[in-house]
Amino acid sequence: MTPILRCPTQLLDEIRRDLSRPHAFAAERVGFLSVRPAATRRSLVLIVEAYHPVADADYLRDRSVGAMMGPDAIRKALDIALLQNVGMFHIHMHEHTGRPSFSRTDLREQDKFVLDFFKVCPTMPHGAVVLSHDLAAGRVWISPNEVEPFAELNFMGSPATIHVFSPNTPPVDNGTDFSRQSFLGPHSDQLFANIRALVVGAGGGGSPICQQLAHIGIGNIRVVDPQEIEPSNLNRLVGATALDVKRRAPKVEIADRHIRDIRPWIEVMPRQKPWQEADDLLIDAHVVFGCVDGYRQRMYLESACRRYGVPYIDIGMDVTRIAEQHYAVAGQMIASLPGQPCMKCLGFLTQDRLDQEENDYGAAGGVPQVIWTNSTLASLAVGTFVRMFTPWFSYAACYEWLELDGNSQTVSTSQQPQFNIKGPCRHFPAKDLGDPFFDVTTLSIQRDV
Ligand SMILES: [Zn+2]
Ligand SMILES: [Zn+2]
Repeated sequence: MTPILRCPTQLLDEIRRDLSRPHAFAAERVGFLSVRPAATRRSLVLIVEAYHPVADADYLRDRSVGAMMGPDAIRKALDIALLQNVGMFHIHMHEHTGRPSFSRTDLREQDKFVLDFFKVCPTMPHGAVVLSHDLAAGRVWISPNEVEPFAELNFMGSPATIHVFSPNTPPVDNGTDFSRQSFLGPHSDQLFANIRALVVGAGGGGSPICQQLAHIGIGNIRVVDPQEIEPSNLNRLVGATALDVKRRAPKVEIADRHIRDIRPWIEVMPRQKPWQEADDLLIDAHVVFGCVDGYRQRMYLESACRRYGVPYIDIGMDVTRIAEQHYAVAGQMIASLPGQPCMKCLGFLTQDRLDQEENDYGAAGGVPQVIWTNSTLASLAVGTFVRMFTPWFSYAACYEWLELDGNSQTVSTSQQPQFNIKGPCRHFPAKDLGDPFFDVTTLSIQRDV
């Protein structure tokens, strides 16, 4: 099982700023992270909920190491673990760049206080994190006597940083050459090879996203869609053939084949199910592309992504009849990032729209969908993802909302958000992070089977 530390980029920046503040006599500051985990068969994702700095007065002068956190600091951290039922991770920073490692003193102290956390909160994993100026490392105890190093760091936001300690490397052969996209960074091909992307919906919106992810070399592509192809889908389903229609192939099977035709080494995980039954594919994904119908589906999918701290990129298109033989083609691409304004904050998911959809339920026939608009939106989604994970220019944003006017064929930043965002998102409280039924003791048992 791969332990993954996942934290919003913005929170990480705040932690670094706080830990580098000078203290009256302590040479280094320390704090705690409260963590709400979720697990799949492959991964244990440790989702950081909050940072708890040790108060100035809770440091003690110490003859051997200069200063250390006093009993009050530990007691307060134990209280948080007990009262909030969260995993607690000690955190401090070493003042250098590159991969940090714990000192001997660090390791000795951890062995002591981690056991105390298991006494007050035995159902959660606990541990320790050390930051450097640009990286981190850490250890997680999944029981009082089982400890593992972090295998992966996910700092989610814009920019997003994925660091894998033992990365997969794309195969070096005649078919693999990423030189034409080398402006994305010297290690971007390796980064992409280690990214796990989930595409929800393998139809007109999802199929061109899968195709583009395969071309740029994303190493693990998960595709979820319960449907089989119908004759009316062939006008827009990238990778589909007449034979697929004839034999009613599942859409995920078409995506799977198309991706592996492009790059056979990509690990594809197709699932012919509603996405709600594919939690395990979402929890440890680095990005989720949502190509679903309706506002309610989007709302549910966005909240699942928020729960596990995964950036969510949503696309959708509409054709509206404005007069006899006059139609307006429009679409949007929205990126919703952990801890940042959500689609409700932005004013995209409104109660009016949700109610309207409820009333219209069952009334609509097949909604109009066309390949050129879908593919434009897919390109915007993939471009937003690449810009987030390998910023090829100085780029940071707390959300993205692009509107496509399919009639004038123009894309522009939505003018709507600035009227709706008032402070940080309140729709997804931190206590709703992670798996609410998580119990680390069942994890150890599963491992033994
Ligand atoms: Zn240290
Ligand atoms: Zn919100």
